[in-house]
This record gives sequence, C-alpha cells and structure tokens, in this order.
Amino acid sequence: MTVELASADAQPINVHARLDAYCAANTFDQPTLVLDVDLVEQQYHALKEGLGYADIHYAVKANPAEEIIARLVKLGSHFDAASKAEVALCLKHGADPAHVSFGNTVKRSSDIAWAHAQGITLFSADAEQELEKIAISAPGAQVYIRLIVEISQADWPLSRKFGCDSATAIRLLSYAKSLGLDPIGFSFHVGSQTRKAAMWGPSLDALAEIWHAAKAAGHELTLLNIGGGFPAFYGETIEAPTDYASAVMEQIISRFGKVPRIMAEPGRGLVAEAGVIVSEVLLVSRKSDRDMHRWVYLDIGRFSGLAETEGEAIRYQFETPRDGDPVGPCIMAGPSCDSADVLYEKRPMLLPISLRAGDRVLIRNTGAYTSTYSSVCFNGFPPLAVVVI
Ligand SMILES: *Cc1c(COP(=O)(O)O)cnc(C)c1O
Repeated sequence: MTVELASADAQPINVHARLDAYCAANTFDQPTLVLDVDLVEQQYHALKEGLGYADIHYAVKANPAEEIIARLVKLGSHFDAASKAEVALCLKHGADPAHVSFGNTVKRSSDIAWAHAQGITLFSADAEQELEKIAISAPGAQVYIRLIVEISQADWPLSRKFGCDSATAIRLLSYAKSLGLDPIGFSFHVGSQTRKAAMWGPSLDALAEIWHAAKAAGHELTLLNIGGGFPAFYGETIEAPTDYASAVMEQIISRFGKVPRIMAEPGRGLVAEAGVIVSEVLLVSRKSDRDMHRWVYLDIGRFSGLAETEGEAIRYQFETPRDGDPVGPCIMAGPSCDSADVLYEKRPMLLPISLRAGDRVLIRNTGAYTSTYSSVCFNGFPPLAVVVI
C-alpha cells in the first residue's frame, strides 16, 4: 500500500517515491533500512504545527541515525536522551545542552555527572535513590517526576516498568527539594503507538488529578512532559499528524490548564514512516502435505530489527513484486536458528501464493525501533544496515 497525499492540483503524490526509486535502483545483499530524512523533516513540521507551543524532544532511541539527529538539530528540535551515548550523539551534532533532557529514570551515577558537566540541566526520576544520585552528581539540577500510566490503550504499552503513583510522586517532589534539586513538574508516557488521540483521554484524566493534587499540596509546577505515543501507519487508519497532535494538546490544556512549559517526546511518530526495509524471501515451505499454512522465512527477523513483532503487537505492511496475485495465509519467520524468531503465527499474514525464495519484500514504515533493536551478530547475521538518502 502506498501513502498518498492530495497535492494542490489534486494529483496524488506518492510520499515514498524517493525511497521507492532508491530501492528499485539498487541491489542489497543483506536486510537494509532505507531512510528519507526529508520525510522526517516533513513530519517534524506537521507534528510541530499541531503541538503549538510545546517543544518537541525527539526520543533518540527510536532511530539514532546521525543524519536524523543532524537534521533535527537544524530544525530546532530538542531531544530526549536515555544514556550517555545518546546525549553525546545530540551534542556532537550541535544540540544546545539546554535542549537535551536526560529522560531515563534509571541512570548510572557517572553518566549523570558526565552529562551535568556537558551542561545538561534536566533529569527525570521516579524513585528516591534516583533523586539521591542526581543530587550528588548534578547538584541543583532541574528534575521532573515520572508518573505511572495504569491504563493504556496503546499497541505497544510501556507497562509498569516506569513511573510512580500519586502519593509517591508528591512525596518525591518534596524529597527532591530537600536534596537541593529543583523539581519542576511531571512526565508520563501513554504507551507507544496509541493509534487515536481520543485514546489519551482516560490516562490524562488520572494524570491531571495527580497534577492538581500536587499543586494543592503547594508544589509549583511549571513543566509537563507528555512523552511519546504518536502513531505511525501500519495498516490501520490513523489520524493525520497535525490533527492528532492538536487533538492531544486540546485534551492536555483542558485538563492541566496552560502549563508554562510542555515537552512532547515523539519517537515512532516522527521517524517510522520515513523508512522502508528491503528484505528478501529466503524460503517458502510447508511442513507436510497437510500443512494449512506456508512458512515464509525472510532474511530479517525478531533479532535483526523486527523485535516489535513480539506478541504480534506491531503488524508491518509487506509489499512484494507479486502483489496482485491470489493470496493465502502464511506464518512468517526470521532466518535465525531460534524458535522464538517467528514474526506472525497467531494471526497469519496474507501474502501472494506465488511468492518464492529470492523475491524482494519491502517492509513499510519501519524507520522506528528497527535498527536500534537489531542484535550485533546473532547467528552471524549482521545487524540491520542503514542507508540515509
Ligand atoms: C521511548 C520513549 C519515547 C518515544 O515514544 P514513542 O511512542 O516512540 O513516541 C518518549 N519518551 C520516553 C521517556 C521514552 O522512553
């Protein structure tokens, strides 16, 4: 499926035309993610338009390609970094340290100290010991407390790993102050790939209650970090980026009021649609004559970039040279010798019955959470190659 936009003269434009031309003109001897950095720029503008005065802090983990970071610095984007290496990457490309937040709630003390020395002034925490580390390694720094999101309607929820509840959060604000830190607000993440803006509502109701309780307890809050969750197109209809972002902002303002500073941290929503993975069918087989399904083995799998097929949560869009031929269900698997390396089995994919070994398969909208999830060399398969055009 191609994504089409209506242009001024109503001729449909294939936004992936540059990607398609590049893929068609080249051969690849390993799975390769091809990224069009101009599409990242377009998406940045589209999201920014909807987000209004909120700052975009790109979540670097979604795709740390140098060209993406460099382009976003040029556009004035801010960044959410989770590690020393991510902070360093942003600074290397000229990001202002004041525009880089160290947003992981689980940090190494020496990394906090290093980041502080580089001029990073904003850190996140969701526990006493994290605040203690920050107070020692980045004395006086600004901190925000991450709240747990109990109810998520996301396709890729971030579960209970991060954040704390209302009473803990309010206690942490006071504790941060007692440690000489500057606690300025809260953060949360509604869960990645939250397909509709309206799905934010129930989470925001609960979070706003905490916000107002903290203010009532005397805490001056000037920062709200609304995290990521902005969706990419994987086959199910999503709202246009500007509409989605402005609908989210409306819901925020109506519940939290006009917060002085709002941060948004899109990862997937900013970069996923800027990339396509070129892969190859290695084998099509049946286990027996009675086998209902074909098995389609690709040269890319769970360990070489498609980790988000875990639980079959993210269902990618596959394009083959045989599209248009009759289709049938198949189980899709990766190339490694690990039985967990199966992509789709519970809900088999429909692919052309004529598909065969050697065919090229394009996997659409794979610019986010693919290159970063690919293992170094599991079974000798190289990590996902990345080309930026
Ligand atoms: C991963 C992450 C994001 C990005 O989430 P998306 O759903 O990809 O937009 C934003 N904020 C934090 C703290 C994250 O860990």
